[in-house]
Formats: sequence, C-alpha cells, structure tokens
Amino acid sequence: MPDEVKEQRIECPNCGHNIRVALDASEGDQDYYDECPACCMEMHLNLHVDEYNQKIQLAVGSDNEQIF
Ligand SMILES: [Zn+2]
Repeated sequence: MPDEVKEQRIECPNCGHNIRVALDASEGDQDYYDECPACCMEMHLNLHVDEYNQKIQLAVGSDNEQIF
C-alpha cells in the first residue's frame, strides 16, 4: 500500500485557483476541509485510498464535485 505523502494539484471549485495539497495515504481514508488561499472558501476534500490498485482517489467538492 502506498505509504508516502504525495502532492496533488487540485483546482478550487469556487474560483478555479490551482492549489497543491499533500495527501498522506498512510492515514487511510480521510474526509476533511481545507481553505482556498485565493478565495478563502472552504473546500471539501475526500481522500480514498485504494489499497488494491495502490492509488489515491481525491474528490474535491463544494457546489460542484470534481474527481481527480
Ligand atoms: Zn478559491
């Protein structure tokens, strides 16, 4: 299973600003909120660790959901 911290570039669902977030797969699935540095809106981040495929799936949502 992936146990390193990976950086993922995401787009703010509110203003489209590009942000880098650190994904820590060693913590397993995570569900948390982060604040966009550009528009200060909260983004809902849902991190899912796919152990079988050794992949991290990140869903970023506010009004519109985007899958990365
Ligand atoms: Zn923003």
